[in-house]
Amino acid sequence: MSRILTPDQIDLAQKLILNANRIVVTTHKSPDGDAIGSALAMHHFLKSLGNSPTTLLPDMAPDFLHWVKDYEQCIIAETQPEHAAASIAEADLIFSLDYNHLPRTGDSVCALLEKSKAPFILIDHHQQPGEFPQVTYSDTSACSTCEMVFRFIEQCGWKSHMNLDIATCIYLGIMTDSGSFRYHTVSYDTHRIAGELIAQGLDHSEIHRNVYDTNLMDKLKLIGYALSEKLVVMQEHSTAYISLEKEELLRYSYRQGDTEGLVNQALSIRGIKFAAFFREGNNEIKVSFRSKGSFDVNSFSRSYWQGGGHINAAGGITDQSMEATLQKFRELTLRYSNQINAS
Ligand code: 5GP
Ligand code: MN
Repeated sequence: MSRILTPDQIDLAQKLILNANRIVVTTHKSPDGDAIGSALAMHHFLKSLGNSPTTLLPDMAPDFLHWVKDYEQCIIAETQPEHAAASIAEADLIFSLDYNHLPRTGDSVCALLEKSKAPFILIDHHQQPGEFPQVTYSDTSACSTCEMVFRFIEQCGWKSHMNLDIATCIYLGIMTDSGSFRYHTVSYDTHRIAGELIAQGLDHSEIHRNVYDTNLMDKLKLIGYALSEKLVVMQEHSTAYISLEKEELLRYSYRQGDTEGLVNQALSIRGIKFAAFFREGNNEIKVSFRSKGSFDVNSFSRSYWQGGGHINAAGGITDQSMEATLQKFRELTLRYSNQINAS
């Protein structure tokens, strides 16, 4: 793990990029601001080098990310499976952005990527990257993959190709993954990079408004309901959690992304160091974990919830019922109570 790419990595990455004709840029399933930001930043950067990349998303991004330039040109594998299969089969270079293991792209894209003979370049800030890429640029201390995309371009000596489209995408991912420059992963370098992006002429307030001030009423009512009716506080274990079942989501016309950040509301309660959010999907329950301090939710999620992420932010999944899931969560919270309280 390092901020700096080795000379060998730079050399190989440059050669792979300059010799490739059909580059495919990929990111993880349920793409967030950092996923869309890093994928489309790379897309715009490769275009500025004269390439015509294909940018492929396993599924759609939430509405608040659709304004990003060229989002509509992305192939959505879920709805365009043949197009996705053809572009991966023809690829001579594949970028893996904002994910550490191929299964993070979902079953169908993962199967296509596993079959590919093309070299991979991985740029990512999650823990323990897999062995599949030819070039692995992994920095778990980075606040976002977007910050790393900037450094990748810089260290390859291609900063003169930076433009407003690339800068906007990189700023988007830094802003969303750092909680608007709030988390401890924000560094001197994050602010230096943000400054250089602003020097490209971007309107940072507009990016913030596009992401955070485009809520529908139903979403706000869902959040209101979740906070007033579904928030459970286990004060003696410094833990709080929220769960939403399918019927409750439907009542408020749930749209993908509507509950993003809800888990942080639970974590924001005074004295709470560990928060969880459970959302029922079609065949599974999606889980989000957040912590303040030293309680490692990445390993908690890896151990019990088929997931992972970072020390203070992780996610996972379960196919158990909501009742069984919450029961399991409460039992685990009791087991880890000392660690959580001491964190
Ligand atoms: P969120 O709770 O916002 O969905 O995700 C928080 C963090 O955990 C993100 O960095 C995300 O990449 C990671 N994460 C979320 N869901 C999963 C999952 O199912 N598996 C793994 N390995 N990581 C996840
Ligand atoms: Mn990220």
